[in-house]
Amino acid sequence: MKNVINVLFVVAVCQIFAVGCCCRKDGSCGRAAEAAACGTTSGADAAQGIQAASPAVNSENQMIFITDEAIAGTVAKLVEKHGEAARARIEKGVRQVAAYWNQKDGSVEEFESFCMEQFIADPAALTMLLDRFRVAMESISGHAVAMTRKLREPVDLATFQTLPVDLLFATLNPFDHLSEDFFTTKVAFVGLLNFPLLDTSEPLELSRREWAEARLAQTFARRIPGEVALGATRAYAAAEDYIARYNIHMGGVQNQDGSTPFPADLKLISHWGLRDHIKGMYSDPVGNLPNQQTILQIMNRIVNQEIPAAVVDAPGLTWNPWTNELKDAEGKAVDAAREPDTRYARILEVFRAEQQIDKYSPLYPTLIDRRFKLDREIREERVRRMLETVISSPTTKKVAALVRKRLGRDLQPFDIWYDGFKNRASLNEDLLTKKVSALYRGVNDFRADLPNVLGKLGFEPETAAFLQQHIEVDPARGAGHAMGAGMRTDSAHLRTRVPESGMDYKGYNIALHELGHCVEQVFSLNRVDDTLLDGVPNTAFTEAFAFVFQSRDLDVLGEANPDPEVMAMRSLDLLWSTVEIGSVGLLDMQMWRWLYDHPDATPAQLRDAVVSMAKELWNKYFEPMFGIKDSPILAIYSHMVAYGLYLPDYSVGFMIQAQIEAFLKGDDLATIKGRNLAREMERMCVQGRISPDVWMKGAVGSELSPDAMLKAAEDALAVVERGQAGALEAR
Ligand SMILES: [Zn+2]
Repeated sequence: MKNVINVLFVVAVCQIFAVGCCCRKDGSCGRAAEAAACGTTSGADAAQGIQAASPAVNSENQMIFITDEAIAGTVAKLVEKHGEAARARIEKGVRQVAAYWNQKDGSVEEFESFCMEQFIADPAALTMLLDRFRVAMESISGHAVAMTRKLREPVDLATFQTLPVDLLFATLNPFDHLSEDFFTTKVAFVGLLNFPLLDTSEPLELSRREWAEARLAQTFARRIPGEVALGATRAYAAAEDYIARYNIHMGGVQNQDGSTPFPADLKLISHWGLRDHIKGMYSDPVGNLPNQQTILQIMNRIVNQEIPAAVVDAPGLTWNPWTNELKDAEGKAVDAAREPDTRYARILEVFRAEQQIDKYSPLYPTLIDRRFKLDREIREERVRRMLETVISSPTTKKVAALVRKRLGRDLQPFDIWYDGFKNRASLNEDLLTKKVSALYRGVNDFRADLPNVLGKLGFEPETAAFLQQHIEVDPARGAGHAMGAGMRTDSAHLRTRVPESGMDYKGYNIALHELGHCVEQVFSLNRVDDTLLDGVPNTAFTEAFAFVFQSRDLDVLGEANPDPEVMAMRSLDLLWSTVEIGSVGLLDMQMWRWLYDHPDATPAQLRDAVVSMAKELWNKYFEPMFGIKDSPILAIYSHMVAYGLYLPDYSVGFMIQAQIEAFLKGDDLATIKGRNLAREMERMCVQGRISPDVWMKGAVGSELSPDAMLKAAEDALAVVERGQAGALEAR
């Protein structure tokens, strides 16, 4: 079962990670925060967590109403009624209900009689109860998705003429109050009374039935009052609005030598636009160096909050980020007063809003708990260890040396964004577009060709036909996205863009990415054995499949480049990207620890802390490779301002992708040609939404780990070395 409460955000799934989807690689799209917040709801270290909800421990918790004494009394009566054998379940269930029951739900007496009436001891009756929930949840989730999709169609699909009302419908969510409605109707309490909340961030050996029960209980693991949720929405929206307007008009930006090398109308948003512009300049790494350095200097000014407030989102000024001089069009000096730490004030507002949610989250009393234990189901410590392993590995040092060699100059801090491993030059895009546009004149052509496309990927005709039946293809307004169904009678929707001249290569590449999502969605909804387990553990998993499909786009077209170096470059690119995004993820994690340790911090104190933590991280991991000290560049990501601890997801996602790719490739002689993508993917997907480690173990035989990525990069380095040796011989 998908998280029915936050079902509105299903469309965002793809937007978060997407390289090719509707927004930038790291989810500049506005929904990232909400989508991250929705993720998967999961249980807690139940005994410990629920105890933490007792009044003595947490007097600030607003939900404390049922005392330990009342709990003990209710437990005794239930044991008397159902016998000692049921005691363990009774104790757990009653405590779970008590943790969420407040005065509005009824008196202590009503609490007790509710438990007496709704607790089920008989196994057959309990199975019937689970069945009731299963049917209800699929219906709620399925109709919510279908309705949301319908309401958004004029905004999402290119076939509609736009009306001003469209945006209003797109934000209308009849399921906004679903979470609270589950509690006011007491449906949630029945679930909590009869099914256990488990800490699924630890690897658990559970039966399918136990997983289903656990996932159901987790649906009710959050009960945030409307006004508190609204407060958080407002804080995130303000932070998002702040970063969405953070444009630098580059026309008037001067290099160190006083020249203005950037196009007059170039406007770059921080950090995405600034970063991508640096990336785009690697075509001439020596000639473009001064321009790249100037953008780095802008980033430093932003992080340090030395940037003149007047520069932000203001065209027509001349600004030298090196001297910080600011002039108007007539060359007259303009007030260059620095931005007054607004960046850090916004982060603090988000933190304080999350602190309000903390009070209503007895099982997950910090955002750190909620992100790691609940959304990702991977412990913070574990994520930190995996990231550190990648960043500090000897393989990464070798890749850094290779980057330096390919650039032909010393490394600069912004070379964390080196993108020269992407083999664009080897693609003849015009030729590919010609081929693709002849094949697909409209979305219907693409849908009709799905059995063929899937066949090329290794799917049997029967499975391909089944998938085609469950995937609708619609014309997207944007670049494309995928929207899974929430019930089996509905279809997944693949949105792709087909211009009048026919689909171009870029569009086709993205369409294959979205197809990967849709195939995963259909398998994990329609072929999973229990709809309570519909889905994959978290967004990183569906993205992994999307990338697997996307990277085989040329194979499907019959245009694959057999050069082993092309594949090798891909592995190096993945590792280098993980090092970069993993480092900013580590900083994000450190910042949130610091916030909880310094709840009364001022924006200036937070600024100093973030800058010094960024430099420390830099000096620890990058100074040895780059030979440069004290760069604060890791603090530039806008996610840190507006998406509360979202960043670590990217690198974990990349590791999952590497593990799945390595498994599909196969590494022994028997599977030298690689495993069958179609069969393996279905086998992996029908595991459903169990926890990440258990899923991964079932999928590829080992738990989540950075090893596959590091090994692939090590192999790739060998391929590159052989290539260079070969080139020397040929000379
Ligand atoms: Zn995607």
